[in-house]
Amino acid sequence: MKNTTKKPAFIPAMYCSLLGHDYQVTKKVTNHVKEYTCKNCKKQLTTNSNGDLIELTSKFKEINATLERVYNKKMERANEKVMSNSVY
Ligand SMILES: [Zn+2]
Repeated sequence: MKNTTKKPAFIPAMYCSLLGHDYQVTKKVTNHVKEYTCKNCKKQLTTNSNGDLIELTSKFKEINATLERVYNKKMERANEKVMSNSVY
C-alpha cells in the first residue's frame, strides 16, 4: 500500500484568506458594473444591481454580457441622437 504523497501547501487561496484578495478591474461592463479578478487566486467578482461585490458565476457572466450589449447599444443610440441633433 502506498501513502498518498502530500503536496507542498502553498495555496494562493490561503494567501488571500490571510492577506485579503488583490482585485483588479478586468472588464468594464457599464458605468456602474465592472468585473474584477484577484491577482493571486484568480477569483472573479462583479458588481450586482445594488452595487455590491459578488462572486462572478457563469450566470452573472451571462447577465454582464447582456448588460454590456444593451449598454453599448444605448451609447450608440445616444451618440446618433447627438449627431443628428447637431446636424439639424
Ligand atoms: Zn484572491
